[in-house]
Amino acid sequence: MTKKTLDIEEFHWIVDMLQTIDVGLVVLDRDYRIQVWNSFMENHSGMRPFEVKGEELFKVFKDLQKDWFMQKSESVFQLKSRAFITWELRPCLFQFKNYRPITGTEAFMYQNISISPLVSTEGIVSHICVIIYDVTDIASNKKALEKANSDLETLSRTDRLTLLNNRGYWEECLQSEYSRLQRYGTVASLVMFDIDHFKNVNDIYGHQAGDEVLRVLARLLKDSLRKTDIAGRYGGEEFGIILGHTSAENSHIYCERLRQMIEATTVIHNEIEIKVTISLGICESSENLDGYQSWIEKTDQALYLAKESGRNQTVIFDHNHPPVV
Ligand code: GH3
Ligand code: MG
Ligand code: MG
Repeated sequence: MTKKTLDIEEFHWIVDMLQTIDVGLVVLDRDYRIQVWNSFMENHSGMRPFEVKGEELFKVFKDLQKDWFMQKSESVFQLKSRAFITWELRPCLFQFKNYRPITGTEAFMYQNISISPLVSTEGIVSHICVIIYDVTDIASNKKALEKANSDLETLSRTDRLTLLNNRGYWEECLQSEYSRLQRYGTVASLVMFDIDHFKNVNDIYGHQAGDEVLRVLARLLKDSLRKTDIAGRYGGEEFGIILGHTSAENSHIYCERLRQMIEATTVIHNEIEIKVTISLGICESSENLDGYQSWIEKTDQALYLAKESGRNQTVIFDHNHPPVV
């Protein structure tokens, strides 16, 4: 026996002790042939040590990411330094099923991996030791926490009734759009609309019916938007839309389409048919604006004019001849 193999033999007694521990232990030689395969690996892969010993790792595990794993391992061989890969970087090396009772929802085992050099007495890295930690519980908890946080964030910026952006979040979006316009000098339009005589809907059909009208309109609004447009519920029955990269003229085309669509819609609540119309105001971005608040004010003035002029129509704010209010 050569000295090199002796080292590995010596390593075995430690490995025997490590058989029972709850981590995967694999020793590979310079040609990625499996030399040590502990019971953790046996239990999770279903491969017995005598089946895999001496076999090239990638031949036994065909779905293992060979190029990536070799790149990591080669640096361990050459630099004689340990490598560590967390599940966040790559969820797993070996695709084992997850059997944990608590985290049963996860389909596979999340793994942290460490690859350590095994240096022979000649000072050469003749083997590497791969340790596989089952971190499914940690990963699952972290993912659940992240999802809860993200759900909470969505909830905090969503209007409960219409599921549109709520006023606070929508105004934040408007503020950033306004600063963006200041920086890049591009054009955008703001639209505000309000349901005509909505009080009558509540008075005649009841508050629940009014709520249903708001839900239906919000859905129509959502379906009418492009990806870059941002709509929000500004007040009770008033909505705001930020139309990015859109002139007042083009916004008018959009607004009229939305207005006509709502006019043509019948909301059915408790078998009662309800029809509503909306009035809309548009204000294109301009140097005359001094802040996003003034953008809202001017759009609201246009909306007010639409109401004054008989409702169910769209009015564009005229920067050259602003209305006297
Ligand atoms: P105008 O055409 O001038 O806009 O008339 P209007 O009746 O729509 O306006 P007004 O401001 O007088 O009334 C708005 C109504 O909207 C009163 C309020 O009860 C109702 N409203 C506000 N929020 C909600 C809501 O969440 N649900 C329901 N059902 N009604 C709401
Ligand atoms: Mg109204
Ligand atoms: Mg109103």
